[in-house]
Amino acid sequence: EKQFNLKNITKVYPDHSGGTTALKNATLNFKTGEFIAILGKSGSGKSTLLNMLSGIDRPTSGEIIYDNRPLHSLTESALTAWRGKNIGIIFQFFQLIPTLTILENIILPMDLCSSYPTGNRKNIALDLLNQVEIGEHANKLPVDLSGGQQQRAAIARALANNPPFIVADEPTGNLDTYNANKVVELFRKMTDDGKTIIMVTHDTELAKLTDRIITIEDGIITSDLTSRCIN
Ligand code: ADP
Ligand code: ADP
Repeated sequence: EKQFNLKNITKVYPDHSGGTTALKNATLNFKTGEFIAILGKSGSGKSTLLNMLSGIDRPTSGEIIYDNRPLHSLTESALTAWRGKNIGIIFQFFQLIPTLTILENIILPMDLCSSYPTGNRKNIALDLLNQVEIGEHANKLPVDLSGGQQQRAAIARALANNPPFIVADEPTGNLDTYNANKVVELFRKMTDDGKTIIMVTHDTELAKLTDRIITIEDGIITSDLTSRCIN
């Protein structure tokens, strides 16, 4: 069971007038199999928090410990390799590569991480596409899929290297209610398979469908509530 701990994380973006403190002394622990919402208004520091968690950006101070190892001890290339194997990332605007088919979009992260023998990757990718119910669209280009289908493809891509943690930045922000619920349903299934989902949202109703709601206001974690009996 992999633990993910943030200890007193502060992030200051420098500017010409003292800087913007986007995150102030955030301390959080994530466990395997949790479905977590990070709830906050625009500009409250949600994306900054996700960037710290995924090692896309580094904190100004504080420590991030993953599986008993401090992330700041990793070089830039080691951090990239770590992210590839341990964190799946889902964006609001899908960010599929438009010139690759859906199947090729899923195989690409496997190629980058060499996580499976070359000959197995296509079948693993097809299996993931079936799990998110778009197997029949494998050979289409992203532009030929609906928004909801593209986001499901992006979820399959995030699962490509079987990472224990998935971080999703407003994954339903560009979807209608039907497709937003479909995404949450898939996340729920993934947590049942032992994945940890950390989902950023400003939608309170959506947050209520998770196990734990962390509220952030002006860079400060103001509450951290478990909304179901998950033990
Ligand atoms: P949210 O995701 O909740 O909308 P962000 O984490 O994007 O919030 O932003 C938090 C604060 O940090 C905001 O005041 C924003 O303007 C500022 N900020 C975010 N990214 C940068 C950056 N790269 N450079 C400077 N300021 C930034
Ligand atoms: P596919 O099987 O091609 O992935 P979907 O899973 O998107 O298709 O759709 C499954 C069913 O849900 C279809 O009957 C479709 O009409 C319906 N549906 C799809 N998108 C929406 C939506 N935005 N609102 C309501 N119903 C939808």
